[in-house]
Amino acid sequence: MKYSEFEIISNFFNKNQKTEKNLIKGIGDDAALIRIPKHNILVISTDTLVEGTHFFKNINPKNLAYKTIAVNLSDLAAMGATPKWITLSITMPKPNNKWLQCFSEKFFKILNKYKITLIGGDTNRGPLSITLSVYGLIQGKKALLRENAKEGDLIYVTGYLGESAAGFFLLQEKKYLINRDIRKYFIQKHLHPIPRISEGIILNKFANAAIDISDGLIADLGHILERSQCGADIELNQLPISNNLIKNFKEKNYLNWILYFGEDYELCFTVSKKNIEQLNLAIRQHLIHCKHIGYVTSKEKGFNLLKKNKKINFTKTGFNHFN
Ligand code: ADP
Ligand code: MG
Repeated sequence: MKYSEFEIISNFFNKNQKTEKNLIKGIGDDAALIRIPKHNILVISTDTLVEGTHFFKNINPKNLAYKTIAVNLSDLAAMGATPKWITLSITMPKPNNKWLQCFSEKFFKILNKYKITLIGGDTNRGPLSITLSVYGLIQGKKALLRENAKEGDLIYVTGYLGESAAGFFLLQEKKYLINRDIRKYFIQKHLHPIPRISEGIILNKFANAAIDISDGLIADLGHILERSQCGADIELNQLPISNNLIKNFKEKNYLNWILYFGEDYELCFTVSKKNIEQLNLAIRQHLIHCKHIGYVTSKEKGFNLLKKNKKINFTKTGFNHFN
Protein backbone atom coordinates (compact mmCIF):
# COMPACT_ATOMS: atom_id res chain seq x y z
CA MET A 1 0.00 0.00 0.00
CA LYS A 2 1.27 3.47 -0.88
CA TYR A 3 1.01 6.34 1.58
CA SER A 4 1.38 10.06 1.25
CA GLU A 5 3.61 11.92 3.69
CA PHE A 6 0.52 13.09 5.61
CA GLU A 7 -0.91 9.59 5.85
CA ILE A 8 2.37 8.28 7.21
CA ILE A 9 2.39 10.96 9.89
CA SER A 10 -1.24 10.43 10.91
CA ASN A 11 -1.24 6.63 10.65
CA PHE A 12 2.02 5.93 12.38
CA PHE A 13 3.39 8.90 14.28
CA ASN A 14 0.63 11.27 15.37
CA LYS A 15 -0.59 8.92 18.08
CA ASN A 16 -2.50 9.73 21.22
CA GLN A 17 0.32 10.35 23.61
CA LYS A 18 -0.10 11.27 27.24
CA THR A 19 -0.27 15.04 27.63
CA GLU A 20 2.48 16.57 29.65
CA LYS A 21 2.40 19.89 31.47
CA ASN A 22 5.36 21.58 29.79
CA LEU A 23 4.31 20.69 26.27
CA ILE A 24 2.17 23.51 24.88
CA LYS A 25 1.92 22.15 21.32
CA GLY A 26 3.22 18.85 19.92
CA ILE A 27 2.76 17.32 16.46
CA GLY A 28 0.43 19.10 14.03
CA ASP A 29 1.46 22.72 13.75
CA ASP A 30 4.39 24.38 12.02
CA ALA A 31 6.53 23.87 15.10
CA ALA A 32 6.28 22.43 18.59
CA LEU A 33 6.07 24.65 21.69
CA ILE A 34 7.65 23.76 25.01
CA ARG A 35 7.69 25.62 28.29
CA ILE A 36 11.04 25.32 30.03
CA PRO A 37 10.63 25.10 33.82
CA LYS A 38 12.40 27.69 35.94
CA HIS A 39 15.97 26.94 37.05
CA ASN A 40 16.35 24.20 34.45
CA ILE A 41 18.79 23.85 31.59
CA LEU A 42 17.46 22.67 28.23
CA VAL A 43 19.77 20.01 26.79
CA ILE A 44 19.58 19.20 23.06
CA SER A 45 21.24 16.48 21.04
CA THR A 46 20.76 15.14 17.53
CA ASP A 47 21.99 12.05 15.69
CA THR A 48 21.49 10.57 12.25
CA LEU A 49 21.63 6.87 11.40
CA VAL A 50 22.06 6.03 7.72
CA GLU A 51 21.47 2.63 6.16
CA GLY A 52 24.75 1.00 5.14
CA THR A 53 26.79 3.38 7.29
CA HIS A 54 25.30 2.96 10.77
CA PHE A 55 23.14 -0.12 10.39
CA PHE A 56 22.85 -3.14 8.11
CA LYS A 57 20.56 -3.04 5.11
CA ASN A 58 17.41 -5.05 5.96
CA ILE A 59 17.77 -4.36 9.67
CA ASN A 60 14.71 -5.36 11.65
CA PRO A 61 12.68 -2.11 12.07
CA LYS A 62 12.22 -2.82 15.79
CA ASN A 63 15.98 -3.02 16.30
CA LEU A 64 16.41 0.16 14.29
CA ALA A 65 13.81 1.99 16.39
CA TYR A 66 15.53 0.86 19.56
CA LYS A 67 19.08 1.66 18.55
CA THR A 68 18.30 5.07 17.14
CA ILE A 69 16.57 6.14 20.35
CA ALA A 70 19.18 4.52 22.60
CA VAL A 71 22.17 6.25 21.00
CA ASN A 72 20.46 9.62 21.25
CA LEU A 73 19.44 9.12 24.86
CA SER A 74 22.99 8.07 25.63
CA ASP A 75 24.21 11.53 24.62
CA LEU A 76 21.77 13.13 27.05
CA ALA A 77 22.81 10.68 29.75
CA ALA A 78 26.42 11.77 29.26
CA MET A 79 25.36 15.34 30.08
CA GLY A 80 23.41 14.32 33.19
CA ALA A 81 20.04 15.23 31.67
CA THR A 82 16.55 13.72 31.89
CA PRO A 83 15.15 13.18 28.37
CA LYS A 84 11.69 14.68 27.86
CA TRP A 85 10.89 15.29 24.18
CA ILE A 86 11.97 13.94 20.84
CA THR A 87 11.59 14.75 17.13
CA LEU A 88 11.83 12.15 14.38
CA SER A 89 12.90 12.85 10.83
CA ILE A 90 12.55 9.80 8.67
CA THR A 91 13.57 9.35 5.06
CA MET A 92 12.62 6.10 3.36
CA PRO A 93 12.58 4.71 -0.18
CA LYS A 94 8.97 3.52 -0.39
CA PRO A 95 6.62 3.47 2.55
CA ASN A 96 5.89 -0.07 3.65
CA ASN A 97 2.93 -0.65 5.92
CA LYS A 98 4.36 -3.56 7.87
CA TRP A 99 7.77 -1.92 8.27
CA LEU A 100 6.26 1.36 9.52
CA GLN A 101 3.90 -0.51 11.83
CA CYS A 102 6.78 -2.44 13.46
CA PHE A 103 9.02 0.60 13.63
CA SER A 104 6.45 2.95 15.14
CA GLU A 105 5.11 0.39 17.62
CA LYS A 106 8.56 -0.22 19.03
CA PHE A 107 9.36 3.49 18.85
CA PHE A 108 6.40 4.43 21.06
CA LYS A 109 7.03 1.52 23.40
CA ILE A 110 10.49 2.86 24.18
CA LEU A 111 9.25 6.46 24.43
CA ASN A 112 6.63 5.31 26.94
CA LYS A 113 9.22 3.46 28.96
CA TYR A 114 11.31 6.61 29.33
CA LYS A 115 8.29 8.96 29.55
CA ILE A 116 9.37 10.87 26.44
CA THR A 117 6.93 12.61 24.08
CA LEU A 118 7.29 12.71 20.29
CA ILE A 119 6.68 16.37 19.47
CA GLY A 120 7.32 16.57 15.73
CA GLY A 121 9.53 15.61 12.85
CA ASP A 122 9.77 15.40 9.11
CA THR A 123 8.94 12.70 6.57
CA ASN A 124 10.67 12.33 3.22
CA ARG A 125 11.32 9.98 0.33
CA GLY A 126 14.90 8.77 -0.28
CA PRO A 127 17.48 6.23 0.95
CA LEU A 128 16.61 5.02 4.46
CA SER A 129 17.91 7.33 7.15
CA ILE A 130 16.65 8.43 10.53
CA THR A 131 17.46 11.61 12.41
CA LEU A 132 16.36 12.05 15.99
CA SER A 133 16.69 15.11 18.15
CA VAL A 134 16.24 14.63 21.85
CA TYR A 135 15.44 17.42 24.26
CA GLY A 136 16.01 17.01 27.98
CA LEU A 137 16.22 18.97 31.20
CA ILE A 138 18.76 19.36 33.93
CA GLN A 139 17.51 20.73 37.23
CA GLY A 140 20.00 23.29 38.45
CA LYS A 141 23.03 24.86 36.87
CA LYS A 142 25.54 22.08 36.34
CA ALA A 143 25.98 19.61 33.48
CA LEU A 144 28.55 16.87 32.87
CA LEU A 145 30.90 18.49 30.39
CA ARG A 146 33.85 16.97 28.55
CA GLU A 147 35.96 19.98 29.50
CA ASN A 148 35.72 19.66 33.28
CA ALA A 149 38.17 16.85 34.06
CA LYS A 150 40.89 17.91 36.51
CA GLU A 151 44.37 16.57 37.13
CA GLY A 152 44.16 14.00 39.95
CA ASP A 153 40.57 12.95 39.13
CA LEU A 154 39.79 9.26 39.23
CA ILE A 155 38.49 7.84 35.94
CA TYR A 156 35.57 5.40 35.95
CA VAL A 157 33.42 3.57 33.44
CA THR A 158 29.95 2.09 33.93
CA GLY A 159 29.02 -1.49 32.95
CA TYR A 160 31.20 -3.82 30.91
CA LEU A 161 33.10 -2.79 27.80
CA GLY A 162 33.63 -4.66 24.54
CA GLU A 163 30.47 -6.74 24.60
CA SER A 164 28.65 -4.77 21.93
CA ALA A 165 31.64 -5.25 19.62
CA ALA A 166 31.58 -8.98 20.37
CA GLY A 167 27.91 -9.06 19.34
CA PHE A 168 28.68 -7.14 16.17
CA PHE A 169 31.50 -9.57 15.36
CA LEU A 170 29.24 -12.61 15.88
CA LEU A 171 26.57 -11.10 13.62
CA GLN A 172 28.88 -9.82 10.93
CA GLU A 173 31.02 -12.94 10.70
CA LYS A 174 28.06 -15.29 11.25
CA LYS A 175 30.05 -16.92 14.04
CA TYR A 176 28.56 -19.24 16.60
CA LEU A 177 29.53 -19.95 20.17
CA ILE A 178 29.06 -23.28 21.93
CA ASN A 179 26.63 -21.59 24.29
CA ARG A 180 23.72 -20.13 22.32
CA ASP A 181 22.47 -18.02 25.22
CA ILE A 182 25.82 -16.28 25.54
CA ARG A 183 25.85 -15.58 21.79
CA LYS A 184 22.38 -14.07 22.17
CA TYR A 185 23.57 -12.04 25.15
CA PHE A 186 26.39 -10.42 23.13
CA ILE A 187 24.11 -9.70 20.18
CA GLN A 188 21.58 -8.18 22.55
CA LYS A 189 24.33 -5.92 23.91
CA HIS A 190 25.01 -4.76 20.35
CA LEU A 191 21.40 -4.24 19.28
CA HIS A 192 20.01 -3.07 22.62
CA PRO A 193 22.58 -0.95 24.44
CA ILE A 194 21.05 0.61 27.55
CA PRO A 195 21.48 4.39 27.80
CA ARG A 196 22.80 5.18 31.29
CA ILE A 197 20.26 7.89 32.01
CA SER A 198 19.65 7.37 35.72
CA GLU A 199 23.40 7.00 36.28
CA GLY A 200 24.07 10.27 34.41
CA ILE A 201 21.53 12.17 36.50
CA ILE A 202 23.09 10.94 39.74
CA LEU A 203 26.68 11.42 38.58
CA ASN A 204 25.94 15.01 37.59
CA LYS A 205 25.77 15.81 41.31
CA PHE A 206 29.43 15.08 41.95
CA ALA A 207 31.34 13.98 38.83
CA ASN A 208 33.45 16.48 36.90
CA ALA A 209 33.42 15.28 33.30
CA ALA A 210 31.66 12.54 31.35
CA ILE A 211 31.22 11.12 27.87
CA ASP A 212 29.36 8.12 26.48
CA ILE A 213 31.51 5.49 24.82
CA SER A 214 30.40 5.28 21.22
CA ASP A 215 33.76 5.07 19.46
CA GLY A 216 35.92 3.14 21.92
CA LEU A 217 37.66 4.14 25.13
CA ILE A 218 40.73 5.65 23.43
CA ALA A 219 38.73 8.01 21.22
CA ASP A 220 36.09 8.93 23.77
CA LEU A 221 38.26 9.36 26.84
CA GLY A 222 40.58 11.15 24.41
CA HIS A 223 37.83 13.74 23.82
CA ILE A 224 37.58 14.44 27.55
CA LEU A 225 41.36 14.79 27.81
CA GLU A 226 41.58 17.08 24.83
CA ARG A 227 38.75 19.32 25.98
CA SER A 228 40.10 19.38 29.53
CA GLN A 229 43.75 19.80 28.49
CA CYS A 230 44.83 16.79 30.54
CA GLY A 231 46.53 13.41 30.21
CA ALA A 232 45.55 10.04 31.70
CA ASP A 233 46.94 6.74 32.93
CA ILE A 234 44.65 3.80 32.28
CA GLU A 235 45.39 0.41 33.83
CA LEU A 236 44.43 -2.37 31.41
CA ASN A 237 44.00 -4.87 34.26
CA GLN A 238 41.32 -2.61 35.75
CA LEU A 239 39.11 -2.47 32.66
CA PRO A 240 35.64 -3.87 33.26
CA ILE A 241 35.75 -7.04 31.20
CA SER A 242 33.07 -9.66 31.77
CA ASN A 243 33.87 -13.33 32.28
CA ASN A 244 31.72 -14.03 29.25
CA LEU A 245 34.08 -11.99 27.12
CA ILE A 246 37.21 -13.52 28.64
CA LYS A 247 35.92 -17.08 28.23
CA ASN A 248 34.80 -16.72 24.62
CA PHE A 249 37.31 -14.46 22.92
CA LYS A 250 41.04 -13.85 22.68
CA GLU A 251 42.48 -11.05 24.81
CA LYS A 252 43.92 -9.34 21.75
CA ASN A 253 40.44 -9.19 20.22
CA TYR A 254 38.51 -7.88 23.17
CA LEU A 255 41.16 -5.31 24.10
CA ASN A 256 40.96 -4.00 20.55
CA TRP A 257 37.18 -3.86 20.77
CA ILE A 258 37.20 -2.06 24.10
CA LEU A 259 39.83 0.43 23.09
CA TYR A 260 38.89 1.07 19.48
CA PHE A 261 35.43 -0.22 18.53
CA GLY A 262 33.02 1.24 21.06
CA GLU A 263 29.22 1.13 20.70
CA ASP A 264 29.01 0.15 24.36
CA TYR A 265 27.20 3.38 25.23
CA GLU A 266 28.53 3.12 28.75
CA LEU A 267 29.60 6.32 30.52
CA CYS A 268 33.22 7.21 31.10
CA PHE A 269 33.45 9.86 33.84
CA THR A 270 35.95 11.54 36.14
CA VAL A 271 35.50 12.34 39.83
CA SER A 272 37.77 14.39 42.08
CA LYS A 273 39.20 12.63 45.15
CA LYS A 274 37.14 14.70 47.53
CA ASN A 275 33.93 13.35 46.00
CA ILE A 276 34.81 9.64 46.08
CA GLU A 277 32.92 9.11 49.36
CA GLN A 278 29.83 10.49 47.68
CA LEU A 279 30.34 8.30 44.63
CA ASN A 280 30.74 5.18 46.77
CA LEU A 281 27.58 6.05 48.64
CA ALA A 282 25.69 6.51 45.35
CA ILE A 283 27.08 3.21 44.04
CA ARG A 284 25.66 1.42 47.09
CA GLN A 285 22.39 3.31 47.26
CA HIS A 286 21.50 3.21 43.58
CA LEU A 287 23.39 0.01 42.70
CA ILE A 288 25.43 1.79 40.05
CA HIS A 289 27.71 -0.65 38.28
CA CYS A 290 30.98 1.17 37.64
CA LYS A 291 34.70 0.59 37.88
CA HIS A 292 37.75 2.71 38.56
CA ILE A 293 40.14 2.36 35.58
CA GLY A 294 42.74 5.08 36.03
CA TYR A 295 43.66 8.69 36.77
CA VAL A 296 43.64 12.04 35.05
CA THR A 297 47.17 13.41 34.83
CA SER A 298 48.77 16.54 33.40
CA LYS A 299 48.68 17.20 29.68
CA GLU A 300 52.47 16.83 29.48
CA LYS A 301 52.26 13.22 30.69
CA GLY A 302 49.97 12.29 27.78
CA PHE A 303 47.48 9.43 27.48
CA ASN A 304 49.10 6.18 28.66
CA LEU A 305 47.98 2.58 28.77
CA LEU A 306 49.57 0.66 31.63
CA LYS A 307 49.74 -3.04 32.37
CA LYS A 308 50.61 -3.64 36.02
CA ASN A 309 51.93 -0.08 36.15
CA LYS A 310 54.21 -0.49 33.10
CA LYS A 311 53.54 1.56 29.99
CA ILE A 312 52.54 -0.59 27.04
CA ASN A 313 52.18 0.08 23.38
CA PHE A 314 48.80 -1.22 22.41
CA THR A 315 48.07 -0.17 18.88
CA LYS A 316 45.09 -1.03 16.80
CA THR A 317 46.00 -4.24 15.02
CA GLY A 318 44.74 -5.95 11.92
CA PHE A 319 41.07 -6.58 12.47
CA ASN A 320 40.03 -5.50 9.06
CA HIS A 321 36.33 -5.98 9.57
CA PHE A 322 36.33 -3.15 12.07
CA ASN A 323 38.21 -0.59 10.08
P1 ADP B 1 5.94 21.30 7.25
O1 ADP B 1 5.58 21.15 5.81
O2 ADP B 1 5.53 22.58 7.90
O3 ADP B 1 7.35 20.90 7.54
P2 ADP B 1 5.06 18.66 7.81
O4 ADP B 1 3.96 18.26 6.91
O5 ADP B 1 6.43 18.19 7.51
O6 ADP B 1 5.01 20.23 8.00
O7 ADP B 1 4.69 18.18 9.27
C1 ADP B 1 3.41 18.39 9.80
C2 ADP B 1 3.46 18.08 11.28
O8 ADP B 1 3.78 16.71 11.46
C3 ADP B 1 4.51 18.89 12.02
O9 ADP B 1 4.02 19.15 13.32
C4 ADP B 1 5.67 17.94 12.09
O10 ADP B 1 6.49 18.22 13.20
C5 ADP B 1 4.98 16.60 12.20
N1 ADP B 1 5.75 15.47 11.64
C6 ADP B 1 6.19 15.31 10.37
N2 ADP B 1 6.83 14.13 10.21
C7 ADP B 1 6.80 13.53 11.42
C8 ADP B 1 7.30 12.29 11.92
N3 ADP B 1 7.97 11.41 11.17
N4 ADP B 1 7.09 12.01 13.22
C9 ADP B 1 6.44 12.89 14.00
N5 ADP B 1 5.93 14.05 13.60
C10 ADP B 1 6.11 14.38 12.33
MG1 MG C 1 8.27 19.08 6.99
